[in-house]
Amino acid sequence: MRYISTRGGAEPRTFCDILLEGLAPDGGLYLPEEYPHVTPEILGQWRTALAEQGYAALAYEVLRLFIDDVPAEDLREICARTYTAEAFGNEEIVSITDLGDDVVLEGLSHGPTLAFKDMAMQLLGALFEYELGRRGKELNVLGATSGDTGSAAEYAMRGRPGIRVFMLSPKGRMSDFQRAQMYTLDDANIHNIVIDGTFDDCQDLIKAVSADAAFKREAHIGSVNSINWARLVAQVVYYVAGYLRATASNDEEVSFAVPTGNFGNICAGHIARQMGLPIRHLLLATNENNVLEEFFRTGVYRPRSSQETVKTSSPSMDISKASNFERFVFDLVGRDPERILDLFAAKLVRLGQFDLSDDPDFPRCGEWYGFRAAASDHGDRLRSIREVWEDRGLLIDPHTADAVCAARRLQQPGERIVVLETAQPVKFAETIREALGQAPEVPEAYAHLAGLERHVVELPPDVDRLKAYIAGNIA
Ligand SMILES: *Cc1c(COP(=O)(O)O)cnc(C)c1O
Repeated sequence: MRYISTRGGAEPRTFCDILLEGLAPDGGLYLPEEYPHVTPEILGQWRTALAEQGYAALAYEVLRLFIDDVPAEDLREICARTYTAEAFGNEEIVSITDLGDDVVLEGLSHGPTLAFKDMAMQLLGALFEYELGRRGKELNVLGATSGDTGSAAEYAMRGRPGIRVFMLSPKGRMSDFQRAQMYTLDDANIHNIVIDGTFDDCQDLIKAVSADAAFKREAHIGSVNSINWARLVAQVVYYVAGYLRATASNDEEVSFAVPTGNFGNICAGHIARQMGLPIRHLLLATNENNVLEEFFRTGVYRPRSSQETVKTSSPSMDISKASNFERFVFDLVGRDPERILDLFAAKLVRLGQFDLSDDPDFPRCGEWYGFRAAASDHGDRLRSIREVWEDRGLLIDPHTADAVCAARRLQQPGERIVVLETAQPVKFAETIREALGQAPEVPEAYAHLAGLERHVVELPPDVDRLKAYIAGNIA
């Protein structure tokens, strides 16, 4: 399997070659030359593998279609060591819960940081360790977080030889739970850096460090951000698992309701559907930051400025631009790199937006690719949290609530929907309290975090100070 850039200007590469990279050298995003195709026979084998051998075995079966430069036995072992009951709290790894009216919830937040990012990041950690070991190299992961990504990355990379993590977070912007989760890690390879500034300041610092090519090379700087291809492939697995667990046979179709911000979560669903998984619709859910919902409604893609990006009660979807979106548009415009260059490298840069409303390709979003979209607001989320609690005695987090809203609003007669659950409510206790008048219980395994010593340094938003800190801690 070879990987090509959406902008057409990069040599085709293998999986392990792009594993440690972000953007392709031409500024595009990597995608497989063509998606592997899943026949009904293969789907039948996967159904058996999941039922008899569990999630790790299914992950191996799916991943090996995309990864042909890791020996089969090694890949099987990487999957087996990653998707364990120990890391994910239960043998099944993902859970299925009936919400009534043909809607089920697929629980993806049983991993170490209680959000769905663990599903991909845990695998990424194992793959990084494996590949760096093979190449005799080391990597210093530099990232910025306002919540779930940072902790997922740190819990995936902690204690791994050859890898260090330098994670920037804006002072005073994360929830108590998120801070406790990250800052109490005491592994020598994890560095929490609080920046006296905003999340945008953190991102600007990362851009400034990355712009210094010599420093980047000498300090072996890399990233684990949402455009990383391996994260997407890992996410394809939970669509397959959700499909298999929610159906009795391979002639059935289901739709997925997907909370998404960077178009990462739902891009994996698009890939699964292109592979031939019987998905009827991909129901895209956003909050008030509706960049993506607006595109599927109007054909206009208009990223927002940071001033226009509002702070909502589903904060992990408060994004101004959807960094994976170019991958879907590449398929939408017939995989023509010239058109991607025109849309993403010319129009978006010059005009701040592009408009496909009159383009003959645009109706294919729904007709060929099965996309439908809905945006919800704070009141919708509170209502969904309350309804699911009252109907089912089940507590959902605000991001999952966005997806429940989309499912209820877009469901067609006879349509069976799998809602992707992306975080545990305890991570967003304030909103739960507002919806229900009571805060969620802190799981026993996490209650002790509040009392542990914090390992964190504070720096001003100054790129030289940051570089000096990194240099001083990788020697
Ligand atoms: C990151 C995140 C999302 C959105 O995922 P994308 O990859 O941006 O689509 C949704 N919910 C939660 C809880 C998240 O952490």
